[in-house]
Amino acid sequence: MQKKFPLNPGEALGMMGGGQLGRMFAIEAAYMGYHVTVLEPGELPPAAEVSLHHIARPYLSEEGLDALAADTAAVSTEFENVPAQALDRLAQNVFVAPPGSAVAVAQDRNSEKHFIESVAHVPVAPHCRISAQSDIEAVEDSLFPAILKTARLGYDGKGQVLVDSRQDLTRAFESLHKVGCILEKRLKLFKEVSVIVARSVNGQTATFPVCENKHRNGILAVTVMPARVSEAISMQARRYATQIVDALHYVGVLCVEFFVLEDGSLVANEMAPRPHNSGHATIDACWSNQFEQQLRCMTGQPLADTTQHSPAVMLNLLGDIWFDGDKPKQPQWSAVLAIPGVKLHLYGKAQARHARKMGHVTCLGHTIEEALDRAKKVAKILN
Ligand code: ADP
Ligand code: MG
Repeated sequence: MQKKFPLNPGEALGMMGGGQLGRMFAIEAAYMGYHVTVLEPGELPPAAEVSLHHIARPYLSEEGLDALAADTAAVSTEFENVPAQALDRLAQNVFVAPPGSAVAVAQDRNSEKHFIESVAHVPVAPHCRISAQSDIEAVEDSLFPAILKTARLGYDGKGQVLVDSRQDLTRAFESLHKVGCILEKRLKLFKEVSVIVARSVNGQTATFPVCENKHRNGILAVTVMPARVSEAISMQARRYATQIVDALHYVGVLCVEFFVLEDGSLVANEMAPRPHNSGHATIDACWSNQFEQQLRCMTGQPLADTTQHSPAVMLNLLGDIWFDGDKPKQPQWSAVLAIPGVKLHLYGKAQARHARKMGHVTCLGHTIEEALDRAKKVAKILN
């Protein structure tokens, strides 16, 4: 039985997935007096430490899903590859936000690009579907140089190959085991930015200030908020992100990644149907944050004010900083915490591993220069 909106503090909320995004959600929910149940197969995942209940069952376990639905008044997800059948089963018994149909669009780069371009009317990079050798022969010359990406399950730059020619493309398609792919023209990027947008059950929308992102080895390394782009570009990015959630009839928080090209035009790259790594600075730098917004969406509450109160720079902390060569080491936290404006977030992961996201630091400042300067000091201490 679906409960009546708004779902008020005291209600139990469900989360599919128990990683850091689920953890930060659960912390926010606890602030506001809601209780969280996490479904995630792993033992003691980051979110379980701060949630009331943890159902340690596979994502497709009917018993686990039914227990989650019985225990909670609404369910959301913290990762985009949650199986569509799982969300559909939950939706029979409990309110699910975002809807499984929207999550499904974001799970496949071909359907995602098609949706963004043809339904939401937001520009994307020139591209085509590659699922067989005959598709390779039909590729227009103008698409090269290009990037071949697996249509499904790619993240942090994984499942992507740069290709300069048709011969390259044949080899790259083979190296990806001929799974369904998308070929995208390689654009010259001036900057990469992202927008965290929320849409409520009543269709109200709100965007956070635009984030400027720098990646290292395919993984987000630094986010500067607000992005150092013109007001016109920033407004356009926020408008485009809103067009996308409206077209999806979305309920929840969604992140849209954009490329800013050298002529100042914007191209949507991909979307994530959940809070996003690039939005973590909202926790310390804005009047509300992306996790509070996720909670407000799934409970039918009004959206929060997204005003930014402090310039911020977020640094991702990867497992590498816990190692000196092969030897384990403890990062110098006290030196980091001695810098003013520094907020440390660790995700409670038991083991540090190379390239594993272990936490982040947000550096606040009175000006963006001050925040950047503090971030430089933090990076110098930790690396
Ligand atoms: P992931 O899911 O791994 O984040 P993305 O599609 O965001 O996949 O690609 C990862 C990175 O590769 C982007 O952040 C960008 O730097 C680069 N990239 C992806 N597509 C293009 C493109 N069409 N042109 C130029 N660079 C691209
Ligand atoms: Mg990306």
